[in-house]
This record gives sequence, structure tokens and C-alpha cells, in this order.
Amino acid sequence: MRRQGGSTTVWDGLEGGAVDALRRQIESDQPAQAWLLLGPSGAGKRAAALSLAAALNCPVRPRVGCGSCRSCERIARGRHPDVHHVAPEGPIIAVDVVRDQIVPEAARSPFEAAFKVFLIEEADRMNPAAQNALLKTVEEPLPDTVFVLISDNEEELLETLRSRCRVVRLEPLSQERISALLLEQGAPGEAAEAAASAAFGDLERARALVFDDGARERRARWASLPERLTSAGAALDAAYEVLDVARGTVKEREVAQREEVVELSEALGEGRGTAAARNALAKRHRRELKRLEEGVLEEALTYLASFLRDVAAARRGAPESCTNRDAANEVARWASSDVTDAELLAAVERCLAARASFVSNANPTLAIEATLVELSRLLALAPPPP
Ligand SMILES: [Zn+2]
Repeated sequence: MRRQGGSTTVWDGLEGGAVDALRRQIESDQPAQAWLLLGPSGAGKRAAALSLAAALNCPVRPRVGCGSCRSCERIARGRHPDVHHVAPEGPIIAVDVVRDQIVPEAARSPFEAAFKVFLIEEADRMNPAAQNALLKTVEEPLPDTVFVLISDNEEELLETLRSRCRVVRLEPLSQERISALLLEQGAPGEAAEAAASAAFGDLERARALVFDDGARERRARWASLPERLTSAGAALDAAYEVLDVARGTVKEREVAQREEVVELSEALGEGRGTAAARNALAKRHRRELKRLEEGVLEEALTYLASFLRDVAAARRGAPESCTNRDAANEVARWASSDVTDAELLAAVERCLAARASFVSNANPTLAIEATLVELSRLLALAPPPP
């Protein structure tokens, strides 16, 4: 699944006692058929779920997952016909999705793999009716069907459903641990520390900041945002640029998706159930693009929020808590400006609120524009003395 550092299993790159327990359970004689992976954002729930699905289905190293065969590769890329991804479309996962898609599909045998896996992301966003509809299938699954529910909001899950699952609690990694892992994978020392600090416990994100050119370029752009918020007009220009970056990322993925459609058509031919498979793929693609776009916009907002928080922290003489070390000079400059702490905190809140609004399906374009303009109003740096 990951090639850095000479990995040999799908679990390489995942860390922590919970992951070890999960891995051992999958290797056991009778792995659980319903899992609930809990933990905050960035704890690696999705990566662990994909590793689980790959380990179960790897023909080369059964129950371990070699990470490099066709099956492991396709699962890692979200392209395996027996690994079904379910995620909210809009604010909830409605009961129809469970009734019309999951339950009938779970009654069929896998297409080619040993196990059919349902990955239900943000499972807490199934409303109670949807959770109840899923309950019976999770209770009595076919022997080759596995459910993996992912959630960072355990309280919203019905006890009846939760109790049918084997619960794994994943924790974000410490900054030191992430930094050490990046060093092991060949990152230069300074880059490893800066990325670990900026990634808030999210190993995937830290790794991207070091090894992925696209992520690095985007971060450099986000770093230029604070100084551009000098007027409403300048803020709007900055917002358009952020939106352009997001669209560019989406376009690149669309090219890959078109290849995938061709691949699927070749694999399926015109036989039974192919229309359903095509529809499912089209749906997944739309979701993937939406998430990708939102992810880029979230990145920009997260950068702004953490930068402004760093400024407030620097004023309190806590430079060691600076998360954006690569922007230390800018942070110091802002810390000695006239912007008040109240304005800084209001701006941080505005960024976080805009980020949260994506979940409730707000229009991301409007959200970014409005937020940056408001930030320019809140933060307008005092004009230099005459
Ligand atoms: Zn494999």
C-alpha cells in the first residue's frame, strides 16, 4: 500500500497499539465481520479500514496483505469491485441508501475476492432509521461479508449497532513520533519536524507535506494568504486563487477517473449487474471529486486558522507552540502588529466555522469568498505610521 521505506505489508505506515490489535485479529482464525473504527480526524481510521480490507483479500499474503499485488493496489486506490465505499451524500446517510444499496448487495457473494467489504465512512451520519435498517445485516452477515464502520462521533451511533461491532479506538500520533517516522522514511530533519508540527497528529498529511509535490506547492500558496488580506478586493482575488487550486486538483483526478471507467467496462463486459456497477462508480467519482475539492479548501482554511492562532500564541511568549514553523518570521511580524487578540480569535473562529459548514453541505465557493473577505475586514493591518 505504501512504498516508502521498503514496506512489505499493508499495515506499514500505520502505528499504535490499536492497529497492532486490529492486525492480529485479522490474522486470527475467525476475524470479526463487523468493525467500528473510532478516533478523531487524522487518527488514520480510513487508512486502517483500507488496510483491513486489503489484508482480508490479499492472495499473495492472505490475512496480512502484501501491499503490492493487484488486489492490494486496487483496494488502496479505492478501485476494488468487492470493496464498497459508502459515505454521506449531503448531511446524512439516508435509510434508502442502506435499504436499496447495502442490504441487497450484502446478500450477494463477492465478485472475485475472498471477502466483500463495506466501508461506511462517517457512519454516525446514518440517521437512526438507517442504522436500524443496517442492524439485521450486520448481525447475520454472509460468511464472506465484512462491515467496517468509521466514525469520529461515537455518541451518534445506536447502542444496538455499536454493540454488534468490534470496536477499535485509534489515536492521533504524537508530533515526535510522526517526525521520527518521516526521518526513517528519508525526510530531511528540518522538513520532517516542520511537517510533523503542521500535520496535527495526522501521519498521512505529514507524509504528503514532505513527499508530495502537490501538497507542498499548495502549502506554499496558503502561506502567502495572510499577507494578502489587505482589502476586500485583495481578499476576493485570494479566494479565487484558492478556488482555482481546488479546481485544478479536481481536474487532475477527473483524468484518472476516466481511465477507471474504461478499466471497469473492460473488466465487467455487458453482463449481469453491470449498469448498477457503473452507477455506483459514477456516484463514487462524484463524491470523490466533491471531497477532494472540499479537502483543498479545508487545507487553506486550516492553514489560516493555525497561522492566526500561532500569532496569538507568539504574543503570549509561547513560540515553542508555533505549529507553522516555516512561517515563524511572518508570525513574529503579525504578533507585533496592531491586530488585537480578539480580532485574531474572531478570525480563527470564522475559519473553523467555514470549514465546518462544508459538512452541512454549504456552498464551498461562497463560504471561501465570504470568509476571506470577512478576515480582511477583521484583520486589516493598521497602516504604517506617517
Ligand atoms: Zn496483496
